[in-house]
Amino acid sequence: MTRRLRFVVLALGLVLVTAVSAAAKPRVAIVATGGTIAGAQPNTAQGGYTSGVFDIQHLIDAAPLMKDLADIKGEQLVNVGSQDMTNEIWLKLGHRVDELLKQPDVDAVVITHGTDTMEETGYFLSLTIHSDKPIVMVGSMRPATSLSADGPMNLYEAVAVATSPEAKGRGVMVVLNDQIHYAREVEKQNTTALDTFHSPNRGPAGHVSGEHVTFFAPPATIHGDQSAFLIDSLDALPKVEIVYAYANMGRDFIDYAVKNGAKGIVVAGVGDGNMTKAATDGLAEAARSGVAVVRSSRTGSGAVYRNIEVDDDKLHFVASGELNPQKSRVLLMLGLLKSNSVDALQRYFNAY
Ligand code: GLU
Repeated sequence: MTRRLRFVVLALGLVLVTAVSAAAKPRVAIVATGGTIAGAQPNTAQGGYTSGVFDIQHLIDAAPLMKDLADIKGEQLVNVGSQDMTNEIWLKLGHRVDELLKQPDVDAVVITHGTDTMEETGYFLSLTIHSDKPIVMVGSMRPATSLSADGPMNLYEAVAVATSPEAKGRGVMVVLNDQIHYAREVEKQNTTALDTFHSPNRGPAGHVSGEHVTFFAPPATIHGDQSAFLIDSLDALPKVEIVYAYANMGRDFIDYAVKNGAKGIVVAGVGDGNMTKAATDGLAEAARSGVAVVRSSRTGSGAVYRNIEVDDDKLHFVASGELNPQKSRVLLMLGLLKSNSVDALQRYFNAY
C-alpha cells in the first residue's frame, strides 16, 4: 500500500468511527409543559415567582452538557404551572409522547413539568403509554432565576436517566434532587424543600449523580405494555371528584358531586380510608345510584384495604390500596372507561 493510499484508508476509517459514534448517541426528545423549572422571579432575592415563563430552548441552553449524553431536540407543548394541569392537557401530552416514542429516531422522552401535580401526570402516562422506551419527568423546586436554581442539574440528570440502558421497560420515572422515583410510587410531600419527592410505600427507584445512574428494584405494578389502558383510544375522561375527610365531615360535597354529574368519587379518608357516618351514608347512596366510590387515605402513606372498619362489600365501595387520592382519581377515570362494576374496578386497584 502506498503511503498516500494508507493515509486515505486511515482518514476514511476515522470518518467512519466518528459517524458511528455520533449515530450511537441516544436521541432524546424533551417535551416542555412549564412549571417552576421554567419559572421566573422579578428579582432573585424575592420568594414570589411565576411558573412557566421560559421556553424549552432556555431550559436546554441552561444545561449545555446534556449534549454530551444525547442528541437533544425540544418542543413546547404548553407552558403552565402544574396546578393548572387538566384532563385535556394530559390527553394532548399522552398523544404527543406516544407519537414521539413510536418514531424510530427517538430513544426516550423527557418531560419538564411543575412539581405540584407531576405525580398525577406521571401516573396517567405510565398507565396509558405502551412503550418500553424510557419516559422521565423532571421539574425543579426553585425557579430558573433563583440563586442555586436546581432545574439545570435536574434536567441533566433526567437525560442521564433517560439514556441509561437500564431505564428501558421501567415505565414513567420522576427525577429530582438526585433521586429516581417510579411515577406510581412518588408523592410531593413538602411545599418548598428540594427533597420534596418521596416514594413512601416502596422507596425510590434509584439514584443519579451527574451521569452516574443506579437503579434499585424494578416497578412492582402493571404499567406500559401490560396496561389495559391505551392512549390511542382516549379522547375524553369521565368526571371524577375527590372529597376530603375530616372531623365533623358532612355529606354536602358528596351530594353536590353526584348532582353535578360525577361518575366517580374518591374520598381522601382519615386513617385507613374512614369518614363520618354522615359521609358514609352519602357515599353509600352515591354508590347505589351507580357512582363509583373509592376509599383512599389522606395520611400520605400505607394502604387502604377492603372491609376493615368500613363494610365495602355491603356498601359497594372500592378500596384504593396504596394509591393516594389524586392517583386513585387517575386510575378511577381510566377504569370507568372500561366498567363501573366494583369487582372490575377493585381488580384494577389491586394490580395497577
Ligand atoms: N406551582 C408550581 C408548579 O407545579 C410549583 C411547583 C414546581 O414546579 O416546583 O408548576
